[in-house]
This record gives sequence, C-alpha cells and structure tokens, in this order.
Amino acid sequence: MSSDELDIKPEELLEFDYDPPKKDWMDPSVAFRMGTYCYSSAPKNVEYLGMPNPREWQPTEKDWKLPENWKEIIYEGMRDRLSKYRSFQVFMDICVRCGACADKCHFFIGSGDPKNMPVLRAELLRSVYRNDFTAAGKVLGKLAGGRELTEEVIKEWFYYFYQCTECRRCSVFCPYGIDTAEITMMGRELLNLLGLNITWALEPVANCHRTGNHLGIQPHTFKDSLEFFQEDIEDITGIKVDLPINKKGADILFVVPSGDYFADPGTFTLMGYMMLFHELGLNYTWSAYASEGGNFGLFNSHELIKRLNAKIYLEAKRLGVKWILGGECGHMWRVVNQYMDTMNGPADFLEEPVSPITGTKFENAKSTKMVHITEFTSDLIRNNKLKLDPSRNDNLRVTFHDSCNPARAMGILEEPRYVLKNVVNHFYEMPENTIREQTYCCAGGAGLGTDENMEMRMRGGFPRGNALRHVQEKHDVNRLACICAIDRATLIPLADYWAPGVEVTGVHELVANALVMKGEKEREVDMRGEPLNEMEGDEDV
Ligand code: SF4
Ligand code: SF4
Repeated sequence: MSSDELDIKPEELLEFDYDPPKKDWMDPSVAFRMGTYCYSSAPKNVEYLGMPNPREWQPTEKDWKLPENWKEIIYEGMRDRLSKYRSFQVFMDICVRCGACADKCHFFIGSGDPKNMPVLRAELLRSVYRNDFTAAGKVLGKLAGGRELTEEVIKEWFYYFYQCTECRRCSVFCPYGIDTAEITMMGRELLNLLGLNITWALEPVANCHRTGNHLGIQPHTFKDSLEFFQEDIEDITGIKVDLPINKKGADILFVVPSGDYFADPGTFTLMGYMMLFHELGLNYTWSAYASEGGNFGLFNSHELIKRLNAKIYLEAKRLGVKWILGGECGHMWRVVNQYMDTMNGPADFLEEPVSPITGTKFENAKSTKMVHITEFTSDLIRNNKLKLDPSRNDNLRVTFHDSCNPARAMGILEEPRYVLKNVVNHFYEMPENTIREQTYCCAGGAGLGTDENMEMRMRGGFPRGNALRHVQEKHDVNRLACICAIDRATLIPLADYWAPGVEVTGVHELVANALVMKGEKEREVDMRGEPLNEMEGDEDV
C-alpha cells in the first residue's frame, strides 16, 4: 500500500481528540487494525540468524503460539538485561511521571492514542518490572504501579514497541534524560526471545549476514550497480569517474547505506559522492563486502547490532586503509557514535582521520576513526577546495529535514546546512521546534517503513508533514533535503500525503549538481536527467 492508496484523506486522519479513554490504561487491550501494525517475520530469517522460537504466526491471530515457558523466558531476559545494562535499570527506576515527554512523540500527536505517549509506552514495560522486580510491587502490586505479565501484555508490548521509531525526540525533553528509545530496544529484545519479530526489521539483518547488505545484493551486482552509475555520470558530465572497489592500500574506506545504490533518489546522492571523490583525486575504496553502512540490528537487539557492525572494521583491516568515511545514513551514525567503538573497537589499527585534501584533523572521530561525509565536504568548502555553481540548483527551493539519528545521536546540525547553503541559492528552514535536536521523525524508521503500516506512518508523519507544508505554502519549497537513506525512502510517501509536490533529495545530489568538475562538458541536465534551468527567486540564504 502506498500513501496514495490510503483511503483516509489527511483531514479525516486527524479527526480524533486527545481525551483519555475511560478504560484504565493498566488493562491491556490491543486491536491489530490493518494499516497500524507490521507483519511478523518469516521463520526462515529467525532461524537463519540463530534466534529463538522461529514459527509461523501473525499479530491478528488469537493464538501467538508462544513457547510453553514464555513467562520464565521474559523474566530471565529482564533479569539478565537489568544486570547487564545500567541504563535499563536506571530508566526503569527514575521516571517521576512529570509528563514533559507526553506530547513530544509524533505517534501520539498523529494518533491521540495515550499509549503512544513516551511515558506510557515505557510504563508498559515498567509496570511489569515494578510488579516482579521491586519489593513494593511484589507486596502492593497494582497500588505500586505493578502489572501482572499476561499474554495480553505481550501483545500490547508488540503493538506499541513497534509503534516507536526509536527516534529519541522524547528524551530531549525529559529532565532526567530517560531515553524511551532504549526502553523500546529492550522491549523488542524481550519480544525477540519469544520469536516475536517483524519482517522489515529482521529480514534486512538476515540479508546482511548473507551478502553484506540489507537488500541482499551480491558483490558482483554491487559492482555492476556502481558501474551503471559511472556510465550515468559520464553521460551527464562527459567524465568517466574512478571506481575503486576492494582496493588494498587505499587511504580511505567509504561505506554507504545500500539504499543509495538500490533506488532513487539515493542513487543521485551516490553519484554525487563518486563525482566528488574523482574531482578530488581521493585515494579511496568501496568494499563489495562491507557494502552496507546501515545497521538494522539496532531495531532488534544489541547482539545483532554488534554482529552487523563488525564487518566495517574487519574490511578496513583487510584492505589496510587509514580511516573510514561514511555516507548519508541515519541509524548507521547512531551505531557508529554510540556503540561501534566499544562493541567492536578500539580500532587501534586505524589512524586518526585527517583530510588528505585540507589537512584538517577530524577530532570528533578520534575514537571511532569514522568521519561523516557532510563533515568531510563542509571542510572542503570551508577551505575553498571545490568549485561550485549553486545557480544550477536555482529551480529548487530547498528545506532540510534533520534526520533523527545524525541530529540527536551525533549532533550533525551545522555541516549539512553549511553544505546546502553553498550549493543552493534558495534555502528555507522549517519552524524552529521541528528541526535540529527537536526534529520530527519520518515515522518510518526502526523497521516500521513497511507498506502494511502506512496509516500509522502517515499519522506519525503528520508533525513533519505539517512543518513541510508550512514552508511549501510560505516559500514555495519544492525539495526536502535529508542525510538518511531511510528518510529518502519514507519521506516520499509522507510528502505526497502531507505536502504534495515536494520531492526528496540527498544533500550530495545537490552537491553533484553544483560541482564544477575539471574538463566536464557543458551540463544540460541535473543528476535526475532533468534539464538544468533557472527560476526567479529571492537570494534568501
Ligand atoms: S523515541 Fe521517538 S517514537 Fe519512541 S516514544 Fe520517543 S518520540 Fe516516540
Ligand atoms: S519526561 Fe522523563 S521523567 Fe517525565 S514522564 Fe517523561 S520519561 Fe518520565
């Protein structure tokens, strides 16, 4: 189902009020309504990854065929995680239910369902913790906020932990720094112990184990795809760019999300990288084995994060590079910044990243040895190393969506804006409380970007769509730039639904349009093959 096929019009979708239901929230009840949940994972993928309890089941079925000792499994899983992850224990204990996070989640804003308030989402798990892991709960039960673990509770966990995109917007507003995304991750880990997973979160992980990337693309097809883009670039610019793959002894290993060599508009951004590196004469390499920067393990369990992430350092070691550069991806950067170094590092065999073009030391990548492409490109621009003609993007009126993970997990806020302002002449910000650290999610991350979940995506996408509509009406914005491959897929139906007429782009697609390459032919078309033209407008940069 696409957003076009959703038979609820945007104005109808918002016909609800925020009045709390009469029913006590502690009584679990979930109706798995088409459009608001994700299908279960195929047992072959659960089995392939060596995960427990593979079986055929679907959320709409009454009997989820839970293993006989399912309660013990959950209790043991909680006990284990409470002892292993201090953050989990702390987040279970310290919420004072102040409500500061309550209206900050896009899924609550777009659905009015109180269990989509971050505080209540966390309470779904916390109530069981209180009941069975605290003295007060063991004695006082419900009076102490405790709740018995039942199959209905498990169903509720499944529904609401797969209605959280782990975007961490709520945590920005919590005075105690409680990160509901971490609680969702724990909830999903516990569900996984019972064989309760969703297709779009787990299948990419299985694919990645088989072929090195989420989409299951084989190494030779990866190479073919890049060669295809090499030809496209030659058609547009007259220049045949270098295409180093698995090159031992290169200075830099470059890793991207597979979405960028699989589908438009990511492909245009990918061509942008290729053109940029060729123009610089960069001694770099792609890897046909570490052909995925993204990490859907993040949407399942810490164990899977670690397993998927390991190949990046392993490839860097095998190829003997000095450091790693990463493309425009969202959750890849959360994994790199928050987990990679401790899970699979330290990568002492690599050097502290230094730009071979400008000599800039990327201090913030000292430990991970991995630099974000917008840090790299903005540094090039700051040091006047690129010839850019922003007027080639004059038909575009651009705004920027801060992708949740680069914004909140690593603070990449200025670099993409700096790059954009140097490659386009018409740039407009969305309202302040919807960007930067407070950015609203695309509502399709964390494995929820499936067609069957389209209604929930559009509900959760409302705050972002509303802000987009605002700049569309005020400034005629027609292009939404972002630095995340999931966004480049999920923002398309979101924009079609909430702000029709706005197209989605990666930042390096716009760099590629503006980049004046040595020896290039006169450009007639942009990276999409559309005629380059100019549009009257303000120089409002
Ligand atoms: S992490 Fe994001 S999706 Fe999850 S509860 Fe918080 S705001 Fe909502
Ligand atoms: S803002 Fe923090 S302390 Fe307050 S209710 Fe939300 S999670 Fe609990």
